[in-house]
Amino acid sequence: MKRREVIRNLSVLPVSGVVLGSAIPFESMASATAAPKRDIFKELGIRTFINAAGTYTALSGCIMHEEVVETIRYSSQKYAAIDECQDAVGKKIAELCHAESAMVTAGCWSALVLGTAGVLTGLDSKKVAQLPHLENMKSEVLVQKEHNHGYVHALTNTGIRVVEVETAEDVEKAINDNTAMMWFLNYAGPNGKIKDMEWVALGRKHGIPTMIDMAADATPVENLWKFNDMGFDLVCVSGGKGLTGPQSAGILMGKKDLIAAARLNAPPRGGNIGRGMKVNKEEILAMYVALEKFINRDHKKQWTIWENRIAVMEKGAKSVAGVTTTVTVPPVANITPTLTISWDITKIPVDANEMRSRLRKGNPSIEMMGGKENLVITAWMLRDGEDKIVASKLAEELKKASV
Ligand SMILES: *Cc1c(COP(=O)(O)O)cnc(C)c1O
Repeated sequence: MKRREVIRNLSVLPVSGVVLGSAIPFESMASATAAPKRDIFKELGIRTFINAAGTYTALSGCIMHEEVVETIRYSSQKYAAIDECQDAVGKKIAELCHAESAMVTAGCWSALVLGTAGVLTGLDSKKVAQLPHLENMKSEVLVQKEHNHGYVHALTNTGIRVVEVETAEDVEKAINDNTAMMWFLNYAGPNGKIKDMEWVALGRKHGIPTMIDMAADATPVENLWKFNDMGFDLVCVSGGKGLTGPQSAGILMGKKDLIAAARLNAPPRGGNIGRGMKVNKEEILAMYVALEKFINRDHKKQWTIWENRIAVMEKGAKSVAGVTTTVTVPPVANITPTLTISWDITKIPVDANEMRSRLRKGNPSIEMMGGKENLVITAWMLRDGEDKIVASKLAEELKKASV
């Protein structure tokens, strides 16, 4: 759509937003229509695209809501002390998510590092300065075998060693004077033998703090307080995934003493392992506004919009002979309607990698996920109206490749 047309369409929309398919801006993302003073992407020749993939770091995650961008713009024009921002925002985030305390971090990864560091050091500044060398400190973190993915590197950054366990019996055997923490990766939850509640109970029984990584699990919204209510001592979330906050921000929340300890390991203090994980006032305040906005969103309505967009794109793909589609919702992590498209290779003799490459090179460029056999599409990071563009480009490219 040309900018002029978008503006014209927007100008006739009722303020309350009567839902007309997916063309109505809902909780509108930062304005795509404002004429840029300087088109820096164009100037530098950087490709921009329609994001039908999802909240991927490599694809710049998400687009923030107008109110979040407004917060950044506003706060950038004033000075404020970082600790005072963290105090005030932490208090609000904690209230919203049923935690004792909270802080804004430089992404979920940084929440994992700082949270672990806080568990190890407590409020002892000597220990803070000593990390990642753990002489005379606890040094082991229990992780279920099925949870032992690349994300544990955030924990090992602090100097700890991962001790793999599989059963509750293993946990009982593994716990010793060196056990610092028990870590749970929410998206691996269904695969591990020990479930979240039992994990917390085991930690409690032995007085070992528990941490959960729920980076991409802000949907359903209840997850934002569920794990605090359950009794995890530390909860780590990405700010720039489902929450659609600043891509370089995240949240660490949980027990008051542990958050205070994590903050000793973080900027604005230096001489610690977290000094490189800086968040400025703009991101701290914007993270809070994004979270508040997300929690207050009409989640049912939002879900319907995602489903409608998926239906539009599904219809576009299915208009081509030989195409089959399925719509699923992941059981955990990135819980949003997800469209998978595949086709009869005798009718459309092109593999899915090549098809994605063609869509990427198209105008507009479109990004999506999938493997050699399929295209995988989500609708939650699309801007209003983009579902229709994706639908027609899918139909066009699939048709072009048909024999
Ligand atoms: C994305 C992700 C992270 C890292 O989060 P950032 O906010 O990008 O720092 C950590 N753990 C899991 C499970 C994730 O999906």
